[in-house]
Amino acid sequence: MSATKHEYAVWGDPALQLQIFIRKVSGISVLFSLAVAVFNQESHWWMITGLAIVYIFYNASLCLRQVKPHLQEFFVNLALCAGFTVSGAMYSSVLYHLLLVRMVLKVGGRRAVRMMLVIALVYVTAQVFASSRLSTGLWFEIIYNTIGFVMLTLTAVYMRNVVEVQSKNEGQIAELMRENAHHYELAHTDQLTGLLNHRAYLEKTADLQQYILVIIDIDYFKKLNDTHGHLFGDQVLETIGRMIKQSIRSKDMAFRYGGEEFALVLPGTSLDLGLKIAERLRFQVANSDFIHHGERVNITISIGVARKSPSVACQDAFREADSALYRAKRQGRNQCAVF
Ligand code: GH3
Ligand code: MG
Ligand code: MG
Repeated sequence: MSATKHEYAVWGDPALQLQIFIRKVSGISVLFSLAVAVFNQESHWWMITGLAIVYIFYNASLCLRQVKPHLQEFFVNLALCAGFTVSGAMYSSVLYHLLLVRMVLKVGGRRAVRMMLVIALVYVTAQVFASSRLSTGLWFEIIYNTIGFVMLTLTAVYMRNVVEVQSKNEGQIAELMRENAHHYELAHTDQLTGLLNHRAYLEKTADLQQYILVIIDIDYFKKLNDTHGHLFGDQVLETIGRMIKQSIRSKDMAFRYGGEEFALVLPGTSLDLGLKIAERLRFQVANSDFIHHGERVNITISIGVARKSPSVACQDAFREADSALYRAKRQGRNQCAVF
């Protein structure tokens, strides 16, 4: 992965977003300092203008290239902030504070405290340089700003930890949900055909009030296994499973109910339409070419259809469809019967 792509990938991190936001606010603070210096014709206004131009161009180029915060940027900006303070620019202490928050968000933990000490030291030195004599007022200002640095560092470290813990928790929850969904799918899917299994049938039909139930059973499947082997039997199950999947609508459900038995649950369907769907499937299977060792094997299915209405219990609807299936078998197989 290229460096640019990686940087885009982490762009969504809230701590990083905050750092970018602070970079922009720093730019505004520098513009203020520049405006104040130029309008008031302060003694060092030309120096502040020069520093402001360097600051704005340097940081704007980082923003445009969407560069992640870097240690080199820290030193350049720290030097620029010191320059602002020495030249007596307004809002230079704001710049120090913003730089502090941004770097703390970047490095976090113990390194943040060390960084705070460096920034505070540079800040105090710049203040001392800027003033010809150390008045009591200046000392108070320095102490006040240093306490501000400490408070800000602790807040930023705390914020960073909160964001980290939160994103870690979110990641773990998402992973657990993915695993859960995977286990649920495994527990409810038949491995051979990919259809829903018996357990899924019981769960999914438990609350369904009204549907057409279609039960499909392969004819003489035991004989087929005995004659052509279990492996071929499995292939037949797979093929019929595929045909069933292709024959239903998105709101229908198809299950491998037992060994060579399948069930279709068709909600919002009339008995007539249910019978048509069953008949179409029976016709398709009976006219399909099942080939084993170059020889065509005749395979048929028998189907029972029943209606589940709100007044009929789930088990009763199944019993009715099963008794229709039994009738289809008795009447010679390869046919559909309605209860
Ligand atoms: P009928 O026409 O009355 O339905 O006869 P049948 O032989 O299909 O019915 P029966 O219930 O006697 O036999 C079902 C057979 O299905 C028995 C079993 O060996 C076979 N069977 C069940 N599950 C599987 C499977 O996963 N793979 C294979 N190959 N055979 C299976
Ligand atoms: Mg059977
Ligand atoms: Mg059978």
